[in-house]
Amino acid sequence: MTLVGAGPGDPELLTVKAIKAIRRATVLLVDDLVGEGVLRYARRSARIVYVGKRGGCASTPQAFIERLMQSEAQKGEQVVRLKGGDPFVFGRGGEEREHLRAAGLEVDVINGITSGLAAATSLGVPLTHRDHAHGVIFVTGHAKGADAQLDWAQLSATAAQGFTLVIYMGVSQAGQLQAGLLSALPPHTPLAVVQHASLPAQRHAVGTLGGLTHLIESEGLGSPAIIVVGDVLRGLAAAQGQQPQPLNAAAA
Ligand code: SAH
Repeated sequence: MTLVGAGPGDPELLTVKAIKAIRRATVLLVDDLVGEGVLRYARRSARIVYVGKRGGCASTPQAFIERLMQSEAQKGEQVVRLKGGDPFVFGRGGEEREHLRAAGLEVDVINGITSGLAAATSLGVPLTHRDHAHGVIFVTGHAKGADAQLDWAQLSATAAQGFTLVIYMGVSQAGQLQAGLLSALPPHTPLAVVQHASLPAQRHAVGTLGGLTHLIESEGLGSPAIIVVGDVLRGLAAAQGQQPQPLNAAAA
């Protein structure tokens, strides 16, 4: 069975390996954030199971998904688990693989383009431009459980040393992360929010850290979105009048 990164949504951003795996699949378990267009490569006879919120009212419990993958694989089906972006970037791909391995199944993993990269590229922003950043930090804005509490103040001190932040799942907790990041980063630090990166529905807004919650509210931005913070965004605010095109605009 194979965990496949479906990329950020635009099917043209799938890897060749991912397309081959999708074509081979007889059963596909599909996450919420997988772009519809990606399924064009599935066989007509393939069984497609939506295990995200759009398949029902609530998200399918993780344990159920893992059991289903296991039982289908044990029946001899070619099971592909399609996950948005990259399976190993905030996608619980690691947990799923552990479970399947514990059940004695062999699991392959195929990379996908993670949404944080697609979001930055759609804005034309080089995340590690050497004039502005030593590196980039991918971080979740949605820490779960007491022991997963993220120290935003600490993170902002690190970011202030010259690291770009790429924040996943941050929109719903924007107030909290904004307050935390302001402890070491100045309010005028450039920031961008990109929703539905790489899809025709892509929208973005550019502003500053001090204006984050206001920006999200006034632009009506929501999940799924990536928040990019750092000096690599300099110049973008000035060019904001020119709306960058979604990545797949050329193919349309
Ligand atoms: N494995 C995925 C991330 C899963 S966590 C990846 O590598 O991209 C879910 C979060 O990913 C969302 O809350 C959002 O922050 C981000 N995300 C996924 N797809 C996105 C898209 N097309 N545009 C913007 N953000 C996206």
